[in-house]
Amino acid sequence: MFEVIKQEGKARRGVFTCPHGTAQTPVFMNVGTQGVIKGAVSAHDLKEIGCQIELSNTYHLHLRPGDETVRELGGLHRFMDWDGPILTDSGGFQVFSLSGLRKIKEEGVTFASHIDGRRIFMGPEESMRIQANLGSDVAMAFDECIENPAPLPYVQQSCERTVRWLERCVTEHRRLMEQPDCVNPGQMLFGINQGGTYPEVRIWHMQEIAKLDCDGYAIGGLAVGEPTQVMYDIIDVVEPYMPKDKPRYLMGVGTPSNIIEGVARGVDFFDCVMPARNARHGKLYTWSGTINIKNEKYKLDQRPIDPGCTCPACASFSRAYLRHLFVAGEMLAMRLAVLHNLHFYNELMVRIRAALDEGTFEEFRRKYAPILDRPARGNET
Ligand SMILES: [Zn+2]
Repeated sequence: MFEVIKQEGKARRGVFTCPHGTAQTPVFMNVGTQGVIKGAVSAHDLKEIGCQIELSNTYHLHLRPGDETVRELGGLHRFMDWDGPILTDSGGFQVFSLSGLRKIKEEGVTFASHIDGRRIFMGPEESMRIQANLGSDVAMAFDECIENPAPLPYVQQSCERTVRWLERCVTEHRRLMEQPDCVNPGQMLFGINQGGTYPEVRIWHMQEIAKLDCDGYAIGGLAVGEPTQVMYDIIDVVEPYMPKDKPRYLMGVGTPSNIIEGVARGVDFFDCVMPARNARHGKLYTWSGTINIKNEKYKLDQRPIDPGCTCPACASFSRAYLRHLFVAGEMLAMRLAVLHNLHFYNELMVRIRAALDEGTFEEFRRKYAPILDRPARGNET
């Protein structure tokens, strides 16, 4: 299911196999929250921009159109016409970040839907059932994502509960996978490490959840308010306790530099809404740094967004045209920008993997980690 084929320092080059195919790692998962990428980008477009794994959202699909509806329509793969790997998050993050009113108990969480305020209960069993109905290839455990900073006693108490929740996830997931009408009987389950910014809680929690022999392990609860260096330090602290033979997933991270630094620390899977969100605001990634396409200086610029890019936007359209679309408020502006930024992220992973294959990742890291997140300088802009 997962094989590390090469290593440089802690950075790993691997191959991940699941019921809907194989992904080369390190991999960036493209986020289609509601079964679509925001900015009018479909699953067919994802094929064209080099996406290997699509990520959808349990919370959103449970509320709308409803996971039972998706199941009746043959599961999420058929519903959105994507035949590649899909990972679904557990809904935990959204329950804790989107719903103002919520009540946490041992059984689970009662919260108000952000759409109509209706009261909904979700616990480990409910999350597993929803993800089984969606039929994703990887289900994520139901956890509490704690904001940083949080008081130590609360983090300890929450992490103890998250271990108990994971035990319940494992039991329910096993039961669901044995049902004769299961949408995707080969669905895997990843556990999630929490512990805020407390190294000792992070380590204890990782050791506890590693005992449950999940198919992979994620580091959650980072990039939620703490400084970047603290995030890197926590990855360094947890990594030695993560099983070596299983995929590791850093949830919700991050910028191109964050991803390079995550790979350097032994992470295999990433996801983030940032490239698509930035694109919709006109902030685009290039190999010389970021540019704001809405800027006046691109008014007569006939070059593509990035001269080296092979995405559908760069193949045909100029910066001047894209800027015009943004200024005019045309929907195509967002679509082209999102296609470019996601293609850039997927291409970033292609280059990271090539560097790992050639044993030149450290050189790649030194060259690109300092420049990709900051505004581009010089002639390129
Ligand atoms: Zn492009």
